[in-house]
Amino acid sequence: MAKKDVRMIVYLQCTECKERNYTSQKNKRNDPNRLELTKYCKRCRKHALHRETK
Ligand SMILES: [Zn+2]
Repeated sequence: MAKKDVRMIVYLQCTECKERNYTSQKNKRNDPNRLELTKYCKRCRKHALHRETK
């Protein structure tokens, strides 16, 4: 249980309306780069590219 936890919570922000629609967790060692995912944005009412932010 006392393992070193390198996971961190990141927010996925819509690149079009800047809304933070999703949260995700990532392992800094496995994913040193910014995450980019295409997700559905309620505000844009369509799928849009979401990018990791803090
Ligand atoms: Zn959006």
